[in-house]
Amino acid sequence: MKKEAETTTQPSVHAFLDFMGRKGLNTTAQRKAIAEAFFDFPGHHSLEEFYLHIQKKDPSIGQTTVYRTLKLLCDAGLATETHFSDGIARYEVAHPDSHHDHMVCLVCGTIVEICDERIEKLQKDIASAHGFVLSGHVHNLYGICPTCRAARDTHSS
Ligand SMILES: [Zn+2]
Ligand SMILES: [Zn+2]
Repeated sequence: MKKEAETTTQPSVHAFLDFMGRKGLNTTAQRKAIAEAFFDFPGHHSLEEFYLHIQKKDPSIGQTTVYRTLKLLCDAGLATETHFSDGIARYEVAHPDSHHDHMVCLVCGTIVEICDERIEKLQKDIASAHGFVLSGHVHNLYGICPTCRAARDTHSS
């Protein structure tokens, strides 16, 4: 069954359409399709990865449209953009009520989401000791994951 153009079951897509409406921006069918695909594609994806994912659904959507829509999703607070050590922007679905940081394997690129209340509190304490009130932070840990460490040990022995 084909979905009607104006209806969607995803609350996040509704929030995006609301945002676009408030900003007086034109919600094209392509932007809506990109938003739907974005919320249906969990993980931390680069523009390139996300574009290839979208291409499978609708080959007529161009990379620039995908890029602009990802930026709009970020502006709407529905997506976050993070840069890891490779410098490539990765986009993920934002969850306003829950925060997490990232641990990244420098060999295979695996990303683990981490959240530790002690670190969260410590960061706030450090900020307030400097008279800051935090509006956000980026905290990435880099290393080598167990799978890659095991593979490396096998090769070196
Ligand atoms: Zn790895
Ligand atoms: Zn994440």
